Formats: sequence, structure tokens, C-alpha cells
Amino acid sequence: MGYENIPREALGFFPTPLVELTNLSKKIDGPKIFMKRDDNTGLALGGNKTRKLEYILGDALAQGADTIVTAGAAQSNHCRQTAAAAAKLGLECHLVLGGQEPQHFDGNLLLDKIFGCQIHWAGNNRKGEDIPQIVEQLKKAGKKPYVVPYGGSNELGAIAFIEALKELELQLKEIKTSITYIIFASSSGGTHAGLMLGKRLLKSSYQIVGINIDKDETDKVPFDQYIVSLANKTAKLIGADQQFSDQDLILNSDYVGAGYGVIGELENEAISLTAQTEGILLDPVYTGRAMGGLINMIRTGEIKKTDSVLFWHTGGAPALFAYSEGLKFIK
Ligand SMILES: *Cc1c(COP(=O)(O)O)cnc(C)c1O
Repeated sequence: MGYENIPREALGFFPTPLVELTNLSKKIDGPKIFMKRDDNTGLALGGNKTRKLEYILGDALAQGADTIVTAGAAQSNHCRQTAAAAAKLGLECHLVLGGQEPQHFDGNLLLDKIFGCQIHWAGNNRKGEDIPQIVEQLKKAGKKPYVVPYGGSNELGAIAFIEALKELELQLKEIKTSITYIIFASSSGGTHAGLMLGKRLLKSSYQIVGINIDKDETDKVPFDQYIVSLANKTAKLIGADQQFSDQDLILNSDYVGAGYGVIGELENEAISLTAQTEGILLDPVYTGRAMGGLINMIRTGEIKKTDSVLFWHTGGAPALFAYSEGLKFIK
């Protein structure tokens, strides 16, 4: 059993820092709150996709690919980190982005352009529906394309979060701290599946609570089933004798609000509080929403003062520059 023989390309700086948010905790009269700073993975302004890409692009290189294709929203953090990683590894990069080409390039999209990747505008198809035809064209042109799945969420991406959980547990041990919850933004499922499997393998007792970010009902497989099945497939890939069912999953969908990327009061408060008490940037789409959820769970007593919470900062702050309209608190 294991994944030592699975190819991996170093792309980030690990371990990422673990910090305690004493000011925020005091401000909301909450429990101890720690933060795992994956916004500092070091690749092109950081984020959780850096970890996944180490394994996924390791596989791409092992298979002899010369061109990477992936998809996402116009402000996708996944696409930005993929563009940077492809540049570093000498791979051509094609991004299939939802929406139309805007007049100005901003936030993550600006960075995609700086990394020199080619962008295909896909209208309403923000989840990669157009990828097969682009792959065909690339093959006809003599390239060897490799498709990185939406959000980097396949078994290889999930493996990275088994590794990440080991990294975290070592850091917690060093500061002689135990936690009762891990809270994070869950959106394409790879982070969630990897943490679930990691917890099982490490025999840990904290709860892994994903805050659902996207209420999109158009997906073929419901999101909760997708995560469970990805955890099972990942266990199988590494030869771990582990089975997961619905009961093992905690996915909180109370905070999806008006949908993916629609910023409301919840995100505004979480972003302003975290910035103004800790000097830490959250993003409007993912971590702002997840922190808003955490703050709410503390206020309602769902998470108690005697708990000890780890908030996994998954990155995303470059999107702030493209979402200033939604940040009402700055006005
Ligand atoms: C992609 C992303 C997530 C969600 O991670 P998944 O593994 O796709 O569920 C959370 N936060 C940020 C900033 C992201 O870019």
C-alpha cells in the first residue's frame, strides 16, 4: 500500500505555515482557531491546487504529454495555478474558461495571460464541456495533450491531501495541540476526498467539515456522492482497504447563498473581520464563504468555545481584484 511510486513534480514550498488566529477568536468570542496557510504554497500566489498539481502534472510528464488542457470559471484559481505550473514544467497550456472574453483582464485571468497560456472562451460551459473537441484539435496538430480534471479533483489530486493532512498533524504535534474540527471550502471534491481518506488512514478523531461553495444542480452526479466515490477510488488506487459511505461525509450546504461566486453579507463580514483582525486575505468565492460559515457555526453554538478549530485556507485572494463590486464593506 502507498503512493511513494506515483510520480510527483515539486511545485510548491511545503510545509505551509500553521498559525493561530487569536485576534479573530477573541473578536467573535470563539474557540481556538488555527489556520493552515495553503494560500502560501508559493506557486503563483498560492492555493490548494498546487498540492494536487504536483501529482497530476507528475503523471502528465510520465505519460509524455507536452500540452495541458483544463477548465474552470473565468476567475478560476485552479486554472491560474495550472498555467503557472505548466510554464514551470515547459508544457503548453490551454484553459477552457466559462463566460465571454472580457474587455479587461483582471485577477486570476490577468495572471493566466501573464503565464502565456491560450484561453478558449466557453460561454455557459464553465465545467469543461468543450474539452473533448479542443483535445481532438490539439491531437490533429501533432500535440500530446493531457487533460487535468475540473479543479484537479481526481485520485491523484486527492492523494495530495492525504499528504497534506500528515503535514498538518506533524505541525500540531510540534505545538502540542489537538483539534476537534477541520473546516474548509469544498467545491470540486478533491480536497475533501483526500482529507477524509487521510483522516481514516491516520486514525484521527476530529471532524472534517466541508463548506459547500457551489449549488450548481446541473452536474450529472450529486456532489456528495461524487466526494464519497472519489474517496473510495483514491483508497483503491493506493491499495488501502477502506470503504466510505454517505455517513462518513460531512458537507454543509447551508452557506451557498445565491450560488457560486455571488458575494453576500456572509462573505463580506468574513473577509473584513479576518483582514482587519489578523491581516490575512480571504477570497470572495471560497474561503470568504467558508469562514463565514465557521463564524456562523460559532455564533449559533454548533461549534463550542471548548472546541479547537483548524480552518484550512485554500487560497484564492487574487480573485479579490476582480470582485471589488461585491465587497460592499469597503464602500
Ligand atoms: C478549488 C478551491 C477550493 C476547493 O477545493 P476542491 O478540492 O476543488 O473542492 C477551495 N478554495 C479555493 C480558493 C479554491 O481555489
